[in-house]
Amino acid sequence: MEDYLNTALNAYRGFWQYLVYDISHQGLQSAFWRLMVLSVGVWLLEIAFPWRKAQGMFRKDFWLDAFYVIFNSFLFPLMLFAALSSVAEAVLRGNLAVLGITIQPLVMVVDWPNWLQLVALLVLTDFIQWNVHRLLHRVPWLWQFHKIHHSVKAMGFAAHLRFHPMELVFYSSLQYLPLALISFKVSDVFLLQIFTLTIGHLNHANLSLQYGPLKYVLNNPAMHIWHHAHQQPQRYGVNFGITLSLWDYLFGTAYIPQNGRDEPLGFSGDENFPTGFWQQLLYPFRKA
Ligand SMILES: [Zn+2]
Ligand SMILES: [Zn+2]
Repeated sequence: MEDYLNTALNAYRGFWQYLVYDISHQGLQSAFWRLMVLSVGVWLLEIAFPWRKAQGMFRKDFWLDAFYVIFNSFLFPLMLFAALSSVAEAVLRGNLAVLGITIQPLVMVVDWPNWLQLVALLVLTDFIQWNVHRLLHRVPWLWQFHKIHHSVKAMGFAAHLRFHPMELVFYSSLQYLPLALISFKVSDVFLLQIFTLTIGHLNHANLSLQYGPLKYVLNNPAMHIWHHAHQQPQRYGVNFGITLSLWDYLFGTAYIPQNGRDEPLGFSGDENFPTGFWQQLLYPFRKA
């Protein structure tokens, strides 16, 4: 028990030190400044080249979503997630060790060139995330958490990080084992983080982008708007892609019937969904 407490405290200390170090350093290595520069950059693009011309600079829920961006990127990890995930990892490894099992990588990709490992890491994590995203829509209690992301009524870049912080727990715990089984030895993972953050922001941005033939590989605003459409052609939704659109095309869940620029967004019953941050956070627990 004491060990787990120490693990939690060390994780807090570690994350806090990381955050202070990160914010006081500038440039591409800083996750905080990266997020700020990228967010302001995409916002300026939205203002200069809006897809929905009538949508204001400060759309509905702009500030709520801006708070979600900070909360899910820095405050929640600082408050809970860093400690929680280190303890969970220690418990998992501890329990497996009791059973005589140690987590050993099965696949070694350490010999691959770094760029190829980065691509492999992107493809693997994105495929896992695509599956987790489908679960969020299919499993009723998970859907209660995911409703926050789908309660957006006017789309803009910051809606990317408008989600219940428990989603971070779902995604990372389901990602943990498959990633632990593959031994990556990558450097410059921050390049991958910049890439996925950029695509995610753009998917939600008020921009008319489709990337030409690359649309079959990369998720984009023209496609992702249909994921948020109020009217869904299939019960559990369509276009589950996170960074890559590839999986939706491969597994038959891609759907772009027409230009979705003015498509009404949300889900049935969203008129009763809470509008405040804390009420939204409590919503799935009340529902249960
Ligand atoms: Zn969704
Ligand atoms: Zn979305």
